[in-house]
Amino acid sequence: MKITEMPADGYEVVLQCEDSESGLRALISVHDTTLGPALGGLRMWPYLSDQEAITDVNRLSQGMTYKSAVAETGLGGGKSVIIGNPKTDKSPALFRAMGRFVDTLKGKYTTAEDVGTTVEDMVIVREETKHVTGLPRKMGSSGDPSPFTSLGVFLGMKACIEKALGTSDFKGVRVAMQGCGNVARYLARHLAEAGATLIVTDIVSEKAKMVVDQFGGTVVAPEEIYDQDCEVFCPCALGAIINDDTIPRLKCKVVAGGANNQLLTVAHGDRLRGDGILYAPDFVINAGGIINVSVELEEKGYNEERALQKVNNIYNAVRQIVETADEESIATNRAAILVADRKLEEGRKRLS
Ligand code: NAD
Repeated sequence: MKITEMPADGYEVVLQCEDSESGLRALISVHDTTLGPALGGLRMWPYLSDQEAITDVNRLSQGMTYKSAVAETGLGGGKSVIIGNPKTDKSPALFRAMGRFVDTLKGKYTTAEDVGTTVEDMVIVREETKHVTGLPRKMGSSGDPSPFTSLGVFLGMKACIEKALGTSDFKGVRVAMQGCGNVARYLARHLAEAGATLIVTDIVSEKAKMVVDQFGGTVVAPEEIYDQDCEVFCPCALGAIINDDTIPRLKCKVVAGGANNQLLTVAHGDRLRGDGILYAPDFVINAGGIINVSVELEEKGYNEERALQKVNNIYNAVRQIVETADEESIATNRAAILVADRKLEEGRKRLS
């Protein structure tokens, strides 16, 4: 196994791993551990180039620092990626090698599942390192984080429709959901139960069909999701989808979803604000999963009730960010970064 340190300004450490035996090609990015050891999921994705993977892991890792700072999980920000196709390239040897790679950081970084990886994959990672969370409940762990992420997104979306539509009632609210994976499926249930109308898409059409079969609504083609007449656009797939090409197409009043790094750049948050679209900052609204995992790391161990209590607070967290943005006349994503930076600064002062 060959591990190389990559130069990355503003990051504590970024490592690249090549393991010819298992075929593992992976990266771990530790952005900031001021507020605690870094924790963030392991993504498996068929990146088209190493550079694309490096950009993604670093953006995700920084997002985790902000997410944990705002949610006060007592954790820092990190993330890892495996370059490969989750449908065809998975093997026990690959995830064992990933476990050994994670273990080299001796707890500075702890991993969990993310896009393309599952609880079962984490069980294999656990064979080589104890620095992995989100394992099955029967192992004393916190299990799949997705239901907690979805609950937080639902509550944060509620705070947004109150502000933007003047109602907390989802009846008649049309939600256009991009992606029908783990987070989206649980979210679709909350939304359908609350009376929302779903418009969904996924690049895997069967996944979109499954959601509609279960919770009602309509399926549209992946490229058409931006053009839908709706109240809420709900990104639940990959990042950077709010950009120059897509913003002019949006017909919603609110953008609120589970995906990480929804904005291509910070300035795209300003553009949403300029267009009168209320954006729920991703790292505030989608913190339910990391909150759940952080409870697992508390002294008394995992407690679902406590996790739910903390996830319920996402409603207030989103409201407060929206209020701060109003007071400061800035975009909500800038307000969220402001709050995160303040908490990091306080943490740095405590350490010095
Ligand atoms: P997932 O892999 O289960 O779901 C993602 C879905 O998006 C897949 O079904 C995929 O086919 C689909 N997709 C990908 N590109 C698409 C496109 N261009 N158009 C339409 N569909 C597309 O992953 P997940 O766990 O549901 O995570 C979804 C997002 O939420 C990710 O950005 C992830 O980082 C973020 N997130 C997840 C959690 C969690 O607890 N799982 C926590 C925080 C953030």
